[in-house]
Amino acid sequence: MKKPKENLSKQLRFPDDEARFPWLAILLDSYAIIDEGLSAAIDKEEAGRNRKLACEKGCDICCRVNKDIPIYPIELVGIYWFATEKAEQALRETLKKQLSSHTENDPCPFLVNGLCFIYGIRPISCRQFGVFNKPCDEGEDPYHTRRDDVLTPIEDYTKKAFLATLPFYGIIDEEAKINFIENNLIHAQAINLQEYDWKKLVKIMDDFDSKKK
Ligand code: SF4
Ligand code: SF4
Repeated sequence: MKKPKENLSKQLRFPDDEARFPWLAILLDSYAIIDEGLSAAIDKEEAGRNRKLACEKGCDICCRVNKDIPIYPIELVGIYWFATEKAEQALRETLKKQLSSHTENDPCPFLVNGLCFIYGIRPISCRQFGVFNKPCDEGEDPYHTRRDDVLTPIEDYTKKAFLATLPFYGIIDEEAKINFIENNLIHAQAINLQEYDWKKLVKIMDDFDSKKK
């Protein structure tokens, strides 16, 4: 589920929470770089190859088909925070049920009623996934059916975005940062969203909810 291009410049910010959690500002800054890079990549394709991005709000086939969604530790913390503290009350119990029963072959557990529950804070891999020319068919994985239509992110932006997250991992020396990114060490930190035990998040959400009562 990719953000339509016209919304890419509208970044979510949470000033009060960013003041409480320094990692949140880091994460949102990184997402801003990713979205800026996406906008540039889409412009390049649309102008250079005269083809339109096909992704629209409500299109959720990729969220049901993709079983290989990397998430990085800072993103995981962001998801925990958002689901626990910001999740819409009306759909909260539905989300908890999905997270509790999730198995790796199910659709993404954050897909609730056809929409991404954590949209503003969805991982980089979700932000960067999109296709040109025509929307995916039911069950289609365009990586396999039409790789040329799949959006290719601009690497410089992706690297810059990952670079921006490194203080979260305690890497602040500039040379160490470059080494970490250039040698792809950042990717060794990733876990698979589909394989993660989301019951741990449900427990945190339950604890949070019981304190509010
Ligand atoms: S987090 Fe899940 S529901 Fe949200 S965009 Fe990614 S795959 Fe889709
Ligand atoms: S067109 Fe494909 S990649 Fe784009 S949002 Fe729809 S299902 Fe996802």
